[in-house]
Amino acid sequence: SKAKLFDEKTDTRTSFKDVAGLEGAKEEVEEIVEFLRNPDKYTSLGGKIPKGALLVGPPGTGKTLLAKAVAGEAKVPFFSLSGSDFVEMFVGVGASRVRDLFKQAKEKSPAIIFIDEIDAIGRARGKNNFTGSNDERENTLNQLLTEMDGFGTNTNVIVLAATNRADVLDKALMRAGRFDRQIYVDLPDIRERKEIFEVHLRPIKTAETLDIDFLAKQTPGFSGADIANVCNEAALIAARKEKKAVTKQDFLDAVDRIVGGLEKKNKIIT
Ligand code: ATP
Repeated sequence: SKAKLFDEKTDTRTSFKDVAGLEGAKEEVEEIVEFLRNPDKYTSLGGKIPKGALLVGPPGTGKTLLAKAVAGEAKVPFFSLSGSDFVEMFVGVGASRVRDLFKQAKEKSPAIIFIDEIDAIGRARGKNNFTGSNDERENTLNQLLTEMDGFGTNTNVIVLAATNRADVLDKALMRAGRFDRQIYVDLPDIRERKEIFEVHLRPIKTAETLDIDFLAKQTPGFSGADIANVCNEAALIAARKEKKAVTKQDFLDAVDRIVGGLEKKNKIIT
């Protein structure tokens, strides 16, 4: 049986409205949306549309969300795979998946290919070369480089890749004509956390008195994913208590719970 490693869907539901904060990153990807919407306009004078951009930043900061929003705003298909899917793959399989993915995207172009955790395949070659699976990782990386180089000037497929370890990536990935643009997606500051709360509070029935500034103040160091988690937990905590609406205290309890979870995670790592 063939494992399915990527999903393709025309995701018109995710838009820039779903992505809070990240003004700079949004501005940069806005250009990519423009290219995908009017490829002919941009290539008419002999220019080439960029092939790839790297989204760099800590986990849970909205890199996947942003990539989906690019596809959604441009109304183009979104093909995705994760670098971690390629770990421990049999020889030849990873490279053929990459070939297959690019073939499908080209057929449906204009399109976005999104590669999450690209560091899992894109680590500098020739390091930690102890295991067979590492050779396969190199094959996969080489195939990816080959595919990006092989794009014609009018392929109209843009590859977005995400990583939180840009420092370990093979420099060949960043060469001109590959992932030659880097877009930083940082943890949100207090103002951005407030905006992220506003997005994730939309579906939640809250008590009128809810003070979003206060919640933003209580959550330093939280990522967008953590904040989404807080909102969801708070709604579940309130529902368990048979409340009619979610209150400030439910949010504080949810924050405590997430902080506890983060501390545990950090303990396991160290
Ligand atoms: P990872 O590096 O772990 O893959 P990521 O940067 O790709 O993380 P996402 O998967 O995009 O992060 O974020 C997870 C979820 O967190 C999103 O689906 C969304 O619900 C929420 N989220 C993260 N950042 C934002 C943001 N800037 N605005 C709104 N929601 C956000």
